[in-house]
Order: sequence, then structure tokens, then C-alpha cells
Amino acid sequence: MKKGRLIVISGPSGVGKGTVVKALTERDPRLKLSVSATTREMRPGETDGVQYYFISHEKFEQMIAEDRFLEHARYVGNRYGTPEEPVDRMLNQGYDVLLEIEVQGGLQIMQRRPDAIPIFIAAPSFEVLGARLRGRGDTDEEKVLMRLQQARMEYLTARQYRYIVVNDRLEDAVRDVEAILRAEALKTEHQEHLLKEDD
Ligand code: 5GP
Repeated sequence: MKKGRLIVISGPSGVGKGTVVKALTERDPRLKLSVSATTREMRPGETDGVQYYFISHEKFEQMIAEDRFLEHARYVGNRYGTPEEPVDRMLNQGYDVLLEIEVQGGLQIMQRRPDAIPIFIAAPSFEVLGARLRGRGDTDEEKVLMRLQQARMEYLTARQYRYIVVNDRLEDAVRDVEAILRAEALKTEHQEHLLKEDD
């Protein structure tokens, strides 16, 4: 069976990358979302094993020591990591696997898995990003400014991603990611078999 592809989706808080990822997986049953491990507190409405595996700092350290993460990073005081085994299992079953991770983790994946497809989701502008953060009930201006500062740092790293998709209208962003995945599949290196004569 043909192995699946590893796809990295990153982008700042407030850009709506979760919504893009959800729409992508709903439209294509061959796309699976990897479930990360984190040390952060569970938010209302979240379930262990669904959005994340919620684990202790000790357990996180232990998983690092056992080399069980494909990548891991610190983000706003908490730790996040992608367990390697389930990702490879899904890839070997022929599924394309999406990692929705922040940029430090994205860079680690680019180094460890050069054939991964890194996509950065950006807002149409910084003003729009600020407006979205303020509009989602986050009235605490200090928090909004902190997130915008974090976004500035993430945008510096975005230059190392292969693609940038703007999330202005959700439908367009989803179609753009689908177009990237289609074009990637048409690359010559993936179609060598067409250029060979039967023996
Ligand atoms: P949140 O706590 O809001 O769910 O996520 C915070 C940030 O951590 C988001 O940018 C999210 O994409 C990122 N994140 C989630 N899981 C992982 C992971 O396994 N590794 C890395 N590096 N970042 C992650």
C-alpha cells in the first residue's frame, strides 16, 4: 500500500487553523488528524484523548526520555508534543496525517521528515488578526497584545514553510490547502512509475 503524507499546519492563535483542519478532515476521509499530548489544563468541553492527551509534566518528561515524540515544544508555559507511533501507524495504513502544531514543532518536523508538507495559515493582515482575537470574547486587551506579539514571532518562522494560505473566507482557505495537496501528489518524484516501460 502507498504510504500516506505528513502535513504540518501552523499559524497564529486566532487565525482559525482549527476550523480549517476540521473542514479538511470532514471533506476527505483519507485525512487523519494526529492527537497531541499536552501538559496544559483541559478546557470546558474538551475530552481526554480527543482534542489532546492531557498528561502530567512528569509523564511528558518520561515520553521525551523514551524518545516517543516526533517533535515537542513549549508554548505559553505548557508543553505540547506529537506522539510518533500513532502517526507512523496511520501513515503506513495509507492515511495522510495532519499535524496542527506551533512553529517550533513545525521546524523540527521539517528537519526530521523532509518529505512532510509544511503549510502556514496566515490572517489577511495583522489588523484582521487583532480584530478576530478581540471579537472572540477575549476582552482582556493585555492577553490580545500578548497573542499578537507571539504571532509576530511565528510570522518570522513562517518564511521557512513551503506554503502560506490566507484564511479570509474559510471555504477559500480549505480549497487552497486541497490544491496544495493535489499539486504535491502530481510532483514528478511521486510519478516515476508513469515514466517507466513495463518489463
Ligand atoms: P491550545 O493550547 O490553544 O490548544 O494550543 C496552543 C498551540 O499549541 C497551538 O498553536 C497549537 O497548534 C499548538 N500545538 C498543539 N499540539 C501541538 C503539538 O503536539 N506540538 C506542537 N509543537 N504544538 C502543538
